[in-house]
Amino acid sequence: MTETTDVVVIGGGVMGVSTAYHLARRGARVTLLEAEQLLGMGSTGLNAGGFRHQFSTAVNIELSKMSVTTFERFEEEFDQAVDLNFCGYLFLLHTDADVAAFTRNVALQHEHGVMTRWLTPEDIAGVVPQLDLDGVVAGTFYERDGLVDPNGVLQGFARAASRAGALLRTSVRVTGAVVRAGAVESVTTTAGEFSAGSFVLAAGPWSGEVGQLFGIEVPVQPIRRQIAVTAPIPGITRDFPFVVDFSRSLYFHYEGGGILTGMSNHAEPPGFTTTVDEGWRDQHLEAAMQRLPLLADAEIANQWAGLYEVTPDDQPILGRLPQLVNLYACTGFSGHGLMHGPAAGLLTAEEILDDAAHTVDIAPLRWRVFAEGEYNVI
Ligand SMILES: Cc1cc2nc3c(=O)[nH]c(=O)nc-3n(C[C@H](O)[C@H](O)[C@H](O)COP(=O)(O)OP(=O)(O)OC[C@H]3O[C@@H](n4cnc5c(N)ncnc54)[C@H](O)[C@@H]3O)c2cc1C
Repeated sequence: MTETTDVVVIGGGVMGVSTAYHLARRGARVTLLEAEQLLGMGSTGLNAGGFRHQFSTAVNIELSKMSVTTFERFEEEFDQAVDLNFCGYLFLLHTDADVAAFTRNVALQHEHGVMTRWLTPEDIAGVVPQLDLDGVVAGTFYERDGLVDPNGVLQGFARAASRAGALLRTSVRVTGAVVRAGAVESVTTTAGEFSAGSFVLAAGPWSGEVGQLFGIEVPVQPIRRQIAVTAPIPGITRDFPFVVDFSRSLYFHYEGGGILTGMSNHAEPPGFTTTVDEGWRDQHLEAAMQRLPLLADAEIANQWAGLYEVTPDDQPILGRLPQLVNLYACTGFSGHGLMHGPAAGLLTAEEILDDAAHTVDIAPLRWRVFAEGEYNVI
């Protein structure tokens, strides 16, 4: 039996539920298909909860502004608490090259109304006295960056999507696609066939695999990233900023009275493994203790690994795909998908219902040929 709807959304992480909500509230019939038994079991359930406006491109700054506005009215609009904490992001910089790059980025942020401030090492010591600032030459801080509860965001969108009429189907894995004359007719799944006018690829780290079902090589790779969380630490309070030690890709933030910390392993090969790499965990914690010495006495209370959904330039792929007229991508957010989920879902709904996203110009994020090169997370 084939079920028919207006839009099928593949993936029940933040991208899928946000897209489903924005489509359904505008009257579209939506069916979301999620392979796992519950929503949010992919990257969305495993992330660090940070949001920032401090980006190096105009489009990412605008996506953050849209999303943070949504987080601010989330409780009222979605009847769901998200524990919003405007603790700020503090970037620590070590090299002249990084200072030069951040000088350009901060100027761009100011053009977009994001009034990031420069801090001297003395200023930084005043903000976070617990840090060892060895080698740090400058910092940037924006007070409207911060933390949000990933599960709250997911649940709020999911329930609001259901209330607006979307069908959220879990334990349904998309296993194939019927493509004819440059368009997708239907997807085959473990629960039968679903036909629709439009299809959204929102499968996070699995987007490359799911893309292949449509005959498309979507350049999204799963890259393991891990986190450790301490038990409560005396003196660590909720206003402790989200600190990013930029050249080490090391970060810390407040979590449940203690510290959550992560560090990217740039030698991590692509793959779906999500067991904690203990060798890397030890290197990570050693670097973390150098920067935040009080961690030496802290008890590690939890640790986990999840997958970034990474594109070659660390920027998402958003909008209609040129290969198939009714297939849309909302994927590849490369480590900043929670913070951009609210905006990306709205823009994907506009792309489908209004023929093109219009609240923000997504031209830089559309399907593109990726140049060879080195990119950094900012
Ligand atoms: C350790 C870590 C820390 C992070 N920290 C931050 C942060 O601080 N701030 C931030 O903004 N972002 C952060 N991120 C990134 C963020 O979590 C992701 O960008 C975001 O969750 C991606 O959402 P998604 O919906 O695209 O993917 P997912 O949440 O992974 O959802 C994709 C869904 O698709 C489903 N699926 C896959 N294949 C199929 C199929 N064939 N059929 C049906 N369903 C399928 C999966 O089961 C999954 O539920 C972090 C990520 C990690 C791993």
